[in-house]
Amino acid sequence: MGDLDEQTGWGFETRAIHVGQEPDPTTGAVVTPISLSTTFAQSSVGEHKGFEYSRSGNPTRSALEACVASLENAKHGLAFASGLAAEDNVLRLLPPGGRVLLGNDAYGGTFRLIAKVWSPLGFPWSAVDLTDVASLRANWPSDTTIVWLETPTNPLLTCIDIAAVAEVAHANGAIVVVDNTFATPYLQQPLDHGADIVVHSATKYLGGHSDVVGGFLALNDDSLAERLRYTQNAAGGVPAPFDCYLVLRGVKTLALRMERHCSNARAVVDLLLGHPAVDRVLYPQLPDHPGHAAAAKQMNDFGGMVSFTLKGGVDAALTVAKSTRIFTLAESLGAVESLIEHPGRMTHASAAGSPLQVPDSLVRLSVGVESAHDLCEDLRAALDRLS
Ligand SMILES: *Cc1c(COP(=O)(O)O)cnc(C)c1O
Repeated sequence: MGDLDEQTGWGFETRAIHVGQEPDPTTGAVVTPISLSTTFAQSSVGEHKGFEYSRSGNPTRSALEACVASLENAKHGLAFASGLAAEDNVLRLLPPGGRVLLGNDAYGGTFRLIAKVWSPLGFPWSAVDLTDVASLRANWPSDTTIVWLETPTNPLLTCIDIAAVAEVAHANGAIVVVDNTFATPYLQQPLDHGADIVVHSATKYLGGHSDVVGGFLALNDDSLAERLRYTQNAAGGVPAPFDCYLVLRGVKTLALRMERHCSNARAVVDLLLGHPAVDRVLYPQLPDHPGHAAAAKQMNDFGGMVSFTLKGGVDAALTVAKSTRIFTLAESLGAVESLIEHPGRMTHASAAGSPLQVPDSLVRLSVGVESAHDLCEDLRAALDRLS
């Protein structure tokens, strides 16, 4: 990728390894130290080196916040204990009675947080088709404060035109939150397309190794950042220093991993398209995919997530999900190892009966960075069991 950062003049890969991660000034350590201290000495009352108490600020967390903010082309970065803790911090911006407009395909936990935790407290929500911008404009609920979108969505991988949604939202005085977990900043930088806040589950591609739970917010607006940072400290959903270190370590190889995730996903898509048991393949690169045009416009490549439906319905989906050897049957996504799951009964079970319910013949793949040949053979063998 050729984009250069305004501040450093460095490309993405260089920033991933160096921003916020200068060698430690006291020892020269090349790797950012894990700062476990919860409190920091003051030379006189109120005079310190920028840290007082680790909930309010921690050196390892600051390194992570600077690095991922830079990757998102953001002025401000805030790290959290989980993606949902980051999301909850954003929802605390809602004024009394403020509405959240949610795309009608979203991570089940996001839906649960908005519909089951915040809504009963007096914050209405509705699910809308964010690919239909004309209808969004025409049917805009006047109490909307936040438009919450994922692109590509989980698990249908629909892509939404961030700039088009942002234009409608901003004209109506709302802010746009983009969950960039699936794309990562390597493939898509939503703030450059008009988003106000980027949300991440760092548990996924940023961490990249299925060994840390984390969340992140990135944004440019100074006053919003001040409010979010206030709540980060006041409500306290912060990550442990060791978790910050693990995410930082993951981010160093994000570019390399994403390239392999994307090329492996393409190989898997080709296999699925040619298999008679498969009904539909959902991948943003396919020209007939909903939002392909939006993806082509705002993404550098199409990502490592692939979903598909089976002609044999739910039974076929459950059979394939338990029949692979390299693809492990498990929730989560975005790490080096390939995973397979049944969204209807696993990640999206909490959306059953809601507008966000997913088809029960759907299987979702998180395509890892193993050899493409082995992944394709593994899937082929599982699909062949259906015939
Ligand atoms: C996993 C996930 C989340 C939630 O993040 P946690 O780290 O599990 O709290 C939010 N959005 C998307 C798209 C996710 O995949």
